[in-house]
Parts: sequence; structure tokens; C-alpha cells
Amino acid sequence: MPVDKDVDVLIVGAGFAGVVAAEQLATQHGLRSLIVEKRHHLGGNAYDEKDAAGVLLHRYGPHYFRSNSDKVVQYLSQFTEWLPTQYQVLSFTNDQYWQFPINLNTYEQLIGRPATEEEFQQYLNEKKVPIAEPANSEEVMISQVGWELYEKFFLGYTLKQWKRHPRELDASVCGRIPVRTNRDNRYLKEDFQALPKEGYTRMFESMLAAAGDQVQVLLNTDYRDVLSGIHFKHMIYTGPLDEFFDHRFGALPYRSLRFENESFTPEQLQLREPISRKKGFWQPAMQVNYPNDEDFTRIVEIKHATRQDCENTTIVREYPDDYGPGKEPYYPVPHPESDELRRRYVELTKQHPNLSFIGRLATYRYYNMDQIVAMALTESRKIGEALVS
Ligand code: FAD
Ligand code: UDP
Repeated sequence: MPVDKDVDVLIVGAGFAGVVAAEQLATQHGLRSLIVEKRHHLGGNAYDEKDAAGVLLHRYGPHYFRSNSDKVVQYLSQFTEWLPTQYQVLSFTNDQYWQFPINLNTYEQLIGRPATEEEFQQYLNEKKVPIAEPANSEEVMISQVGWELYEKFFLGYTLKQWKRHPRELDASVCGRIPVRTNRDNRYLKEDFQALPKEGYTRMFESMLAAAGDQVQVLLNTDYRDVLSGIHFKHMIYTGPLDEFFDHRFGALPYRSLRFENESFTPEQLQLREPISRKKGFWQPAMQVNYPNDEDFTRIVEIKHATRQDCENTTIVREYPDDYGPGKEPYYPVPHPESDELRRRYVELTKQHPNLSFIGRLATYRYYNMDQIVAMALTESRKIGEALVS
């Protein structure tokens, strides 16, 4: 489809960062944008669609929306209704399912009998290693739960996922996972936990619909192939930071993933041994983590959370992978050396006043969706005000 090549803002990437910015520039500032996206769809890594079995899947790994920001939730609520959900995860090791994240239920499984919160607290007080300011992911876990639980649930998973020892990763990586002494089984800490009722892709479509013809989208296109033919006053870049500068200082490290999907009809589920615990499902929870015994890190059966009315189900095994040609840079790797390299690239961005770097890849930060929405709201306001004044 032909697009108008004369716009106010050129936006690279149609993920949360790009689409929120485009919507805001259009509706709040009356500015016209062109979004150029190299994939065939909107939504970036949050893209969802039905697979051949009719099951709604998050194509680039499970995306559990959560937030403590009323502003972000209110903003997105203009474009979607919500399906409140409490994301439930288990960990499978030593031939059994364990409650995860660690809480009183996990402790009872460990000792094989009922216990009280006080007893678990006392266990933790005895086991945890006193570290005032944990400097890495090993320290952040042993200072909360001690060596035994850290080695059971975190060491193997983290080595697989990052191909690095937890000692070499920032404390924030494993520190994301809550540890509780009560029976709260939720995987996440945030107050608001819900999925867009009709899925993420629908929500992105509504955002663009709100922007009307102020926003055009060019899919299947790398911006570098069209850049010279587009006239714009400002550019928003949401792709990888180092790629923008042709890896001038060297490549920033990323981790990639490989997804292996398997679908089941109700008849196939019935034949499964051991019989799945819930009708219509393959595994007992939305996500099961495999810290030690398998090559994959987790199996996700997202139908538990979407509560889709569909008789088939699909599970997705997630294998960590090295990043390289033809692979997606899913995760920035938070550790001191990458932070140093990142800092050098961030310095370069300051030489480009008509360019904004927004989003997880462009800032090289392990941010969640709500943090990206907040960033895009703030940055698009600054850009809009500057361009309109
Ligand atoms: P992206 O979604 O990555 O969008 C950037 C877009 O830019 C991409 O579509 C890309 O194709 C495009 N692009 C890049 N280079 C070019 C180019 N040269 N030309 C044109 N287009 C280009 N967050 C949560 O809150 N909860 C979760 O449960 C959660 N789970 C996650 C699970 C996985 C496996 C991953 C990888 C991330 C997860 N996240 C989760 C994080 C979430 O995906 C991000 O916070 C959010 O999607 C970032 O949005 P973005 O727009 O910055 O980036
Ligand atoms: N983690 C772990 N064991 C688990 C779950 C998580 O060691 O069972 C660690 C691991 O290093 C992981 C990090 O905690 O990368 C963050 O986990 P989360 O589930 O938030 O990862 P994401 O969904 O972002 O991949």
C-alpha cells in the first residue's frame, strides 16, 4: 500500500513503544506518523494470534500484563477491557511439582508436613546469608532464602536462561521473583494483573483506530531500506541500540529463545499419562518452570490465563538460545560489562537531538510492558510539545 512519505514523525517498530507514541502524537498533538515495522504484524513481542488448533497464543513468549501504575492502566483501558487473572506458576524438579515462587506452601512440600508462617520465617532466618546490599543474582537469592532453595530453584534455571552464572548477573534479574512467607501463590508482585480481554493484537488495533489516518503503518519493512525516501521532523527508534550505530563499539549481548509448540485435542488429552489434572488442559498450571531436569526453561499453556473457550490446547516449550543472525534479540543481559557498553552507546544518542530512543531494545533495559508504556507516554509528550511549539 502506498504511504505518504512526508510525515512529522518516523517511528521504527510497531511494539508498545512505537504504537503508544504514534497514538499519543496523533490524538494529543495532531501530529502525523509513519510506523515502519520489519515483522508482518503489529504488537512487537506482545503479538498474539490463534494457532492452527484455534488456541490464542502469545507468539514471542508469554506476556503477563501487570502494573502498579494507575496512569498506565487507565491509558490502556481506553483500548481494551481486561480479563483479571492471577498468573499461576509451578516449578518441576526432583520428579514433582513445587509451588513457585517460594512461599509457605513450598516450605511445607520441602519438609513434608504442615507448618506455620512463623516456622518458615524462622527457617529463612537460619538459612539466609546476611548480605546488606546484594550485588548480583546469587546474592539476592541466598540473602532471602539460603543456599538450598537457591540451588534447587534458581541456579540451574538461570544458568540455562542466561548462559551465565547468577553471580555474573545484576541482582534485578532473580530479584524480580517474589519470596513470601504466606500462602500467596501469585507469580508476580504488582497490584494490577490482567490480560487484554480480546488479546494484545486487538488492543494495538484499537490504539491505531483511535489515531485514525494520522498514523500509517508499513509492515514487512526494515527502516534502513526506506529511510532515504522519507521526510520527517523527528524519528523515534525502538529497535536494538547497538544496531542503530552499526555496532560501532561492539555488539551488546542478548539472549534469544526457541519456541516448540505442541497442540492437543480433547481425545489426545484423555490418553495422556499422567492424566492432566484439569479438564481441557495438558499441565496443572499456566506455566511450569524446569530449573534442573530439562533443556527447556519452561512450558507455558496460556489457555489457563486467557480462559479461552476452546476444546483444544497448545503448550509451548521455551528453549534459551544464543543470539545471532536470523534470531530475535529477546533479552538484554543485565550485568556490569553490558552496562558499561550500553553507557557508551547512550552517550552517542545524545548527539542526535531529533531522534528519540524508546523501548526495551532501544534503551537496552529488561523492562516490562507497563514500563514501556509509561516511557512512551512521557517521551511522546516531550516530542509533541517540542514539534508543535
Ligand atoms: P518490541 O516489542 O521488541 O518492539 C520493537 C519492534 O521494533 C519489533 O516489532 C521489531 O521487529 C521492530 N524493529 C526492530 N528493528 C527494526 C528495524 N530495523 N526496522 C523496522 N522495525 C524494526 N513484559 C511484561 O510486562 N510481562 C511479561 O510477562 C513479559 N514477558 C516477556 C517474555 C518474553 C519472552 C520477552 C522477550 C519479553 C517479555 N516481556 C514481558 C517484555 C515485553 O515484551 C516488552 O516490555 C515490550 O514488548 C517492549 O516493547 P517495545 O516496543 O519496546 O519492543
Ligand atoms: N528464575 C529462576 N527460576 C525460576 C524462575 C526465574 O532462576 O523458576 C530467574 C531466572 O534468572 C529468570 C529470572 O529469574 O531469568 C526472571 O524470571 P521471569 O520469570 O520474570 O523471567 P521472564 O518472564 O522475564 O523470562
